[in-house]
Amino acid sequence: MLRITSLQKYSIHDGDGIRTTVFFKGCPLKCAWCHNPETQGFGKELLDHPEKCTGCGACVKVCPKGAVSLLNKAGADDGAESAAGAGTADGSAHEDGKTGTAETDRNLCAACGKCTLFCPEGLREIAGREMAVKELLKELLKDRIFYEDSGGGVTFSGGEVLAGNMKEVISLAAALKKEGISLYIDTCGEAPWENFEAILPYADAFLYDLKFVDFEKHRQYTGVGNFRILGNLKRLSDCGAVIDLRIPLVRGVNGTKEEIGAMTAYLLEQKICPRRVHLLPYHNTGMAKYSRMGRKYDGEDFSPPTEEELTEYEEMFRAAGFRDVRRGG
Ligand code: SF4
Ligand code: SF4
Repeated sequence: MLRITSLQKYSIHDGDGIRTTVFFKGCPLKCAWCHNPETQGFGKELLDHPEKCTGCGACVKVCPKGAVSLLNKAGADDGAESAAGAGTADGSAHEDGKTGTAETDRNLCAACGKCTLFCPEGLREIAGREMAVKELLKELLKDRIFYEDSGGGVTFSGGEVLAGNMKEVISLAAALKKEGISLYIDTCGEAPWENFEAILPYADAFLYDLKFVDFEKHRQYTGVGNFRILGNLKRLSDCGAVIDLRIPLVRGVNGTKEEIGAMTAYLLEQKICPRRVHLLPYHNTGMAKYSRMGRKYDGEDFSPPTEEELTEYEEMFRAAGFRDVRRGG
C-alpha cells in the first residue's frame, strides 16, 4: 500500500501542463518554512480545530484511547460527564453556551480516525490514507484527457516520495509509463541514490529542491545536512536527467546575495545543468495547519524577498548562464 495525504487535481504549479499531484506521506526533512507539515511524518496524524469546537463531546465519548478531554475556559478538564453534555465542572454551561473545548493528547492519540466520523462540525480529520497501486492508478487515469490536451501528467510529491515504499512507487510509476502518462518527481533529494536510479527509467523530469549549499545552514533550517542532496543532484545531472531546480526563498535566510552567489558558483563548478531554475518566494499559506496538528510554527518571522531582490537573484542566475529562470512554480 502507498500512504498519501491527498491528490491535487488540475494542478498547474507542479510541472508542465495540467497535472495531478500525489502527495506522499513522510519526509526526512523538517523545513522551517514547510507549508505541508501534514506530509512530514510517515505515520498518520490527527488534525483538529479546537478554536471552532462547540463542545458537544462526541469525540470524547468515542475515542478508544481516552485521548480527548473537554476543557473548560480556565483549562481544567471537565471530565467524562461534561463529555456527555453536562457542561463545565460545576455542571453549568459557559457564557457563550459552549460546554467546553475538545483538547487532544497527541501522545495518546493513535490516529485511528474514529472521532472524525462522529464530530458533527467536521472539525477533525486524519492526514494519511492507504491506497493500493491499482486504486491510485485508476484515479490518476481519470484525468488522462487533461494531461493529453495540456502536455501535463502526474507529479509525485510529498513529503518525499523517494523515501517511502519504493517497491510500490516503482510499480505505480511503471504503470503510468505503460499508459503513456508523463511523470515528474518532486523531490527534496534526501533519499538513497538507488531510489533515484530505480525511478529514472519512468521519470520525465525531476523538480529538485535546492535550499542551501551551506551544510550548516541546511541542517539548521531543515534538520538534515545536504551532502546526500547535493550528491544526488550531481549524479542525476550527470545521468542526463531533466532537472527543474526549485529554490524556495526566505528573505535573509537563503534569500541573500551571498547564498544565491554560492548556489550559482556551486552549480557551475559541479557542471550541474538544470533545464530551468524556479525561484519560489516564501509564503505562509500552510501556517494554520501547524496549530491544527498541535505544533508550533517556527516561521513567524519569515518573509519573501522583495520584488527588487527577486529580480536581482533572477539576474544573478542568468548572468551565470542559466537561461530559463522563472519566478514561481
Ligand atoms: S483519532 Fe482515534 S485515538 Fe485519536 S483522538 Fe480520534 S478517536 Fe482518539
Ligand atoms: S465532536 Fe467536534 S464539536 Fe464535538 S467536542 Fe469533539 S471536536 Fe468539538
